[in-house]
Amino acid sequence: DSAAIDREVDSVCPYCGVGCQLTYQIRDEKIVAVQGREGPSNLGRLCVKGRFGFDYPNHPSRLTRPLIRREGVPKRMDPDFDPANPLTHFREADWDEALDFAARGLAHLRAGYGAEALAGFGSAKCSNEEAWLFQKLIRIGFGTNNVDHCTRLCHASSVAALIECIGTGAVTASFMQATQADVIILTGCNPAVNHPVAATFFKQAAKRGTKILILDPRGQALNAYAHKVLRFEPGTDVALFNAMLNVIVTEELYNQSYIQEHTEGFDALKQHVMEMTPEAMSPLCGIAPDDIREVARLYARADKAMIFWGMGISQHTHGTDNARCLISLALACGQTGRPGTGLHPLRGQNNVQGASDAGLIPMVMPDYQPVSDAQVKAAFEELWSTPLSGKPGLTVVEIMHAIEAGQIKGMYILGENPAMSDPDLAHARAALATLEHLVVQDLFVTETAQFADVILPASAWAEKDGTVTNTNRQVQMGRAAVPLPGEAKPDWWIIQALANRMGLNWHYQHPSDVFAEMKQGMASLDHISWERLQAEQSVTYPCPADDQPGLDVVYSDAFPTGNGKARFSPTRPLPPDEPVDSEYPVVLTTGRQLEHWHTGSMTRRARVLDQLEPEAVASLAPAELARYGLQPGDPVTIKTRRGEITLTARIDPQMPEGMVFVPFCYVEAAANILTNPALDPYGKIPEFKYAACRLSPA
Ligand code: SF4
Repeated sequence: DSAAIDREVDSVCPYCGVGCQLTYQIRDEKIVAVQGREGPSNLGRLCVKGRFGFDYPNHPSRLTRPLIRREGVPKRMDPDFDPANPLTHFREADWDEALDFAARGLAHLRAGYGAEALAGFGSAKCSNEEAWLFQKLIRIGFGTNNVDHCTRLCHASSVAALIECIGTGAVTASFMQATQADVIILTGCNPAVNHPVAATFFKQAAKRGTKILILDPRGQALNAYAHKVLRFEPGTDVALFNAMLNVIVTEELYNQSYIQEHTEGFDALKQHVMEMTPEAMSPLCGIAPDDIREVARLYARADKAMIFWGMGISQHTHGTDNARCLISLALACGQTGRPGTGLHPLRGQNNVQGASDAGLIPMVMPDYQPVSDAQVKAAFEELWSTPLSGKPGLTVVEIMHAIEAGQIKGMYILGENPAMSDPDLAHARAALATLEHLVVQDLFVTETAQFADVILPASAWAEKDGTVTNTNRQVQMGRAAVPLPGEAKPDWWIIQALANRMGLNWHYQHPSDVFAEMKQGMASLDHISWERLQAEQSVTYPCPADDQPGLDVVYSDAFPTGNGKARFSPTRPLPPDEPVDSEYPVVLTTGRQLEHWHTGSMTRRARVLDQLEPEAVASLAPAELARYGLQPGDPVTIKTRRGEITLTARIDPQMPEGMVFVPFCYVEAAANILTNPALDPYGKIPEFKYAACRLSPA
């Protein structure tokens, strides 16, 4: 009923990396409905989260005043704590007191233990400008590169492999290119659940005749659109992909002229994969040799083919190897650099691409420039008129280990929730409890904020101006639609206020001032201005001119590797860090549901979404339920070497036998109590997709 609406504001969805453009409809200063807008990545479409997940900022537990921990209240997750009534554990403070207290605690630790005793987690839910300011504060205000965010738990291994092999961490083509491809491989991703509007492009492609090949241990809704589905054994991705490379090499399906012109290292790869025949790899991955040959031939012989992947690829101790294999497939077959071809890790959070680009990464400055590179260091020292550390910082899980080891004493956490998102939560929570000073900035008293010394009430996405960058490299404009509640403040304002109390002298008046500074340190933003984004809503980087929309497909001529050539990086199959055995015989895998977002801090406070999926569930194959004498709806206990949880069993014919899937958004049965913190050695990402567990009726 448009008569019941006071005004409309155009913005971008706050949830996934698809980056759907939307319009907020507002009545009495509250969002009452959301409509899809004709953005390049959504063409007016929205999924259930974008359309109905808008009311969490009005939840009764929303923070409206700064809070300081009451004297004597222990730092722990208290089962009796009610986030809607935090004054049992915290007292209210005004902004001056809270900011002084936050800054004084951090400065005291810096003075006593040195800069490396401090660390910061930023957030992929922040705008680009907030991410830039946050990493700048950690690097120059704290004096350390110990700054990271949830990309470490998401696509860090994909980025490590992409930077190694093609010189950049971003996608080579947008997912809209799928509609021009003859063949697309979807592997380790479940787009109908996790990137639902991107999935509509895949469905449209299938309708036009594109052959979809799905390689995944779990079944999924898109199987109905697939030409071929290979459900391989969990954790055996490298075996399957190397067998495909073997077929491409032995049957000479590779693109010799492309390899010669654009790559180096193919001869070594050829030799390397010779022994990894489909027959040799089949017993490992559980796929018949003929099926391996068929998908390899389909991909290699296609005129235009793309590969899309998700966290089923990246969240393994061999996640970087998985991505290296996919890159080798594309390079060997010349399937990049043209419309309808490319490599595309589907990014998770709405701004994980932008937050990474803006420098929320410990070993690189903005635009992935190494912190240890003397020229890079000198350039940022000049831009910021201050000396910088050239020592790469610690990553998310390394920071938690450093807290346990007593090396890190103080933290600033903005919008992240490691007390729910980190692997092996008992350890992560114990580590958070030992911090001498923890500053948390968020919308709610999250599980992590329950360990805070001071909590700063922040802004929801619809309450602030800022840009975000989606999985397609599209920089898009988000706009403040509704006022901030109570005394909550925009995140950029809070970061600046804290920075100034830690001895810096910042005078940004608006996020557009920050964007202007970012352009001085990030060549990726050339020809993209705040004014352009206001007028055009979305511009893709790299963008060659002020009057062009940016490049959807990149690296037609040369890769950004120095000599212009991409590199093959051979790999070998490795077992999971914690293989199943007789004591723990079932594979635990974790992830998201369609209706809920990550640790649930937003979607479990969104009325419709919480009603659609109100309880913690474990999805099991019918035969697996029967094996344990369980009926759907029965309580089931899942135990690993790190802990146990009890939740409701759900029947799911898409699950393979011997595997259980648990979403990680439910605090009452937190999946990450169970997960294995073992890290991929390159991307430093934990093995969320494979842990040995056992089940029992509760
Ligand atoms: Fe939002 Fe992603 Fe859904 Fe689009 S697909 S509406 S960006 S959650």
